[in-house]
Amino acid sequence: MKSGITAIYRFKVALKGRRGIWRRIEIRGDQTLADLDRIIRIAFNHDTWDHLGEFYSGKPWYRSGYGEINPNGGGEGAKIPIASLGLQEDDRIGYVYDFGSEIHHYVTLESMSESTDPAARYPLIVSRNNPRYKYCVECAASGKKNVATQVCLDCSTEDGSEPEYICEDCGYADKHEEHFLEDIVY
Ligand SMILES: [Zn+2]
Ligand SMILES: [Zn+2]
Repeated sequence: MKSGITAIYRFKVALKGRRGIWRRIEIRGDQTLADLDRIIRIAFNHDTWDHLGEFYSGKPWYRSGYGEINPNGGGEGAKIPIASLGLQEDDRIGYVYDFGSEIHHYVTLESMSESTDPAARYPLIVSRNNPRYKYCVECAASGKKNVATQVCLDCSTEDGSEPEYICEDCGYADKHEEHFLEDIVY
């Protein structure tokens, strides 16, 4: 194998605290942390136009970070090539999306290999966990089955035993206008 530059890095990216939620991503060694940041945002339905992201090598993340990355592709850590991190198979780094809500991800390097498909356009999402969908409780009440995209924290029971899962359309209803809706990632 040649130097890391032409290698394809295969990462498994999992949500911290919900490790059953994962995406497998392939990216070229000469692509950058900004490229990886962007594909992770897309893969997990995070905003691609708002909030900072940062990769980090240890903990705490804010002292071991590679530099912040803006959603527009700028920032201190944006131009760092993947290959320059010197990662070996099974090495794990972290990724934090949104310094406010701090959504952490484990980023584990599963393998490095030569690209076998010259037409492939990296980075790529190659696989993901089997989603176990929640369904909208409001639609269910009228006999409809719609996949929930959000949970309304104001309408859920406080102990979390009865989460108010709602679909996109129900989220727009007046009922939830002033409520805090959190996106569901599958
Ligand atoms: Zn609904
Ligand atoms: Zn509500």
